[in-house]
Amino acid sequence: MKSPESLVRREILDLKAYHVAPAEGFVKLDAMENPYRLPAALAAEMGARLAEVAINRYPDPTAPRLKRALREAMGIPDALGVMIGNGSDEVLQIISLALARPGATVVAPEPSFVMYRMCAIAAGLRYVGVPLRADFSLDEEAMLAAVRVENAALTWLAYPNNPTGNLFSREAILRLVAASPGLVVVDEAYYAFSGGASLLDEVGRHPNLVLVRTVSKLGLAGLRVGLAIGPYDWLEQFEKLRPPYNVNALSMAAAELVLGHREALDEQTRRIVEERARLEKALDALPGVRRHPSAANFILARVPDAPAAFEGLKARGILVRTFHGSHPLLAHCLRLTVGTAEENARLLEALASVL
Ligand code: PMP
Repeated sequence: MKSPESLVRREILDLKAYHVAPAEGFVKLDAMENPYRLPAALAAEMGARLAEVAINRYPDPTAPRLKRALREAMGIPDALGVMIGNGSDEVLQIISLALARPGATVVAPEPSFVMYRMCAIAAGLRYVGVPLRADFSLDEEAMLAAVRVENAALTWLAYPNNPTGNLFSREAILRLVAASPGLVVVDEAYYAFSGGASLLDEVGRHPNLVLVRTVSKLGLAGLRVGLAIGPYDWLEQFEKLRPPYNVNALSMAAAELVLGHREALDEQTRRIVEERARLEKALDALPGVRRHPSAANFILARVPDAPAAFEGLKARGILVRTFHGSHPLLAHCLRLTVGTAEENARLLEALASVL
């Protein structure tokens, strides 16, 4: 009695907390971070700017300057609303809460981002995962059937998908939006690396399509700023569930400043995309490795023995993510974040010797 066992919901007791490996001292290629620091002059400007922030006051919850900076950086038209979150993780939580009518169901393809399921369970929603095809493409018929049969209140699609790195068919996504009885949220966390693939131009044309984005993969993961982009009637409901001061004043000021110097971030993104191509080529030359095409800042690669390769890399100071055991389609798969040229060279050298 009075214990978590007796008071916490069964589904929560059964959850595992989101896993973050200790990374001190490692070449960190496990979390899809941008490997580059800010240019020194911009970092210095940020220091001065942050010193001026009135941290004795709560941040302005309407965040007009941050929203303006996000709109300009991402080309979001005024016809669409924007809601900010403490990382897009919080946006996923808020959207899940908003759709959590008793008995409602969430649908997402699998494997995909684990937070879709975690947020559903936290909000008391039923969760149904629909397997991708073996080539990681969307099983359109199975998704259409699932949203109809389950009367899905909410469907998640990551575009590009994590951890597989590919883009689902845009046409298939739009057919799913049209056929879905519920809200479809397209999560574009990796849009910057997708060569322009995005559904932003479709938002506002469908009553049930919302987009989620983040500044994390642009090089600002530590700030924790994410956003929902969508029709105002949806955002009005989400806003009621957003903690009023969810994004702190320092993060707001820092993000406003850096997004105003987009060329610095864009240059880093360009380097990551270039490095991705080189890494893909080098992986293709490694016997035993089968890598999948990526439109993101990471590459999913199948190796003969992923647990051994993961440990071997770790012993050589390189941290990646293994997905072996997490889903049948990911047997012996490692997810490799694209790092700097030097980090990638170390990864390749270590991988060659491990294999
Ligand atoms: N969506 C996807 C598909 C992701 O991979 C991630 C990060 N792993 C997120 C959302 C969350 O990112 P953040 O909270 O840093 O914005």
